[in-house]
This record gives sequence, C-alpha cells and structure tokens, in this order.
Amino acid sequence: MFQKKINIEENAKYDFLTGLLNRRSIEKILKYELNELKDKYNDTNLIIMLGDIDNFKQINDTYGHSVGDEILKNIAKALKDTFRENDHICRWGGEEFLVILPEVKTEDVKKVETRLGTRIAQVKLPDKSSVTMTFGLVLCASGISIDMDTVINIADKKLYEGKKNGKDRIEYEIMKANKDKDNA
Ligand code: GH3
Ligand code: MG
Ligand code: MG
Repeated sequence: MFQKKINIEENAKYDFLTGLLNRRSIEKILKYELNELKDKYNDTNLIIMLGDIDNFKQINDTYGHSVGDEILKNIAKALKDTFRENDHICRWGGEEFLVILPEVKTEDVKKVETRLGTRIAQVKLPDKSSVTMTFGLVLCASGISIDMDTVINIADKKLYEGKKNGKDRIEYEIMKANKDKDNA
C-alpha cells in the first residue's frame, strides 16, 4: 500500500510517453533555479530552452501516430544524451520540450549548441531524413532577477521567431543583470 503510494507520486513527476519530467515538475525546478540565480555572482549562466519539433503534424500524417510517438521518444533520448546529469529536461506538452541548464559557462554555450544539433540530426524518419527542431533560448546571467512567466514568454517568442525565420535553428535572447542599476 505504502509502496503503491510512492509509485503514484513518482509517476506524477514524469511524462508517461518519454519518461522525461512533466510540466508541473519543471515549473517547480525553474522557480527554484531562477531564485538561486539572483544571489550568484560568478561567470555562469542559467539557460532555458523551449524546443518544438518541426513539421510534426506532417510526420504524423505521413507515417502515422505510432511513428510520431517513436520520434517523440527518440528526441527525448537525444536530449538526455546531449545534456548533463544535473540538467533538467521536460516534455512541456505535445511535441514541445523545455530544458533548464544551470551553471553554463559563457564560452561553453556554442559547444552545447553544436552537440545538440548533431545529436538531434541522428533522429531519422523512415525515409532516412533527419528530424529537425527549433529552439527559443534565453540566457540568464548570474545576478539577474527575473520571474518564470517572463522567461517562458521570452523563450516562446524566440521559438516563434525561429519558426518564422525558417525552422531548424536556435534563436537567442540574452538577459544580463543591470550593473548601472546595482551601482546606483
Ligand atoms: P511547426 O513546424 O510549425 O512546429 O509545425 P508542426 O506541424 O510541428 O506543429 P503543429 O502544432 O501544427 O502540430 C503538432 C502536432 O503534434 C499535432 C498533434 O497531433 C501532434 N501531437 C501532439 N502530441 C502528440 C503525441 O503524443 N503523439 C503524436 N504522435 N503526435 C502528437
Ligand atoms: Mg508545437
Ligand atoms: Mg512543431
């Protein structure tokens, strides 16, 4: 009985299809990480990425829903392979994923981007072409004070821009602490 209760609580944290964190869990984590960020004064950043699979409706329409589900699982695996143990990866909903990367050094941002692009391209459709994704990335520098809804809104706006600009890309927004304000 007790064991059963624990299992139900554990399952409530994860997305059934992909095994990634679900939206509710990651919202708690994001609030926590943003709160921590305010008091950090090292040269690291908190990165938030909202990613969406390109042309997923067409993938479902062409190959069927169960192939679509396989693609979702393979993308989840690709994201797990790309990021570190302490990063947080969630299925935000449908074919959208939210990733939180704490403590990323500025000089490592490009490396992460390259690794991500390479690994996602390894996810193939039945015709052997690669699946692609578009991301809205918000880089929050240490010391910044910003709330969850603002970050998500910016990531969503950048994601939308990426779709408009041709998909298969990452659009950035950099949020830095206002030094002038701190010194005033
Ligand atoms: P874009 O490149 O602009 O992102 O277009 P899109 O076709 O990916 O986006 P759209 O929002 O039109 O379609 C998303 C599709 O994802 C529609 C929905 O049926 C499908 N979908 C959502 N959840 C699941 C799921 O769990 N499994 C499968 N197979 N499909 C899903
Ligand atoms: Mg979508
Ligand atoms: Mg899509």
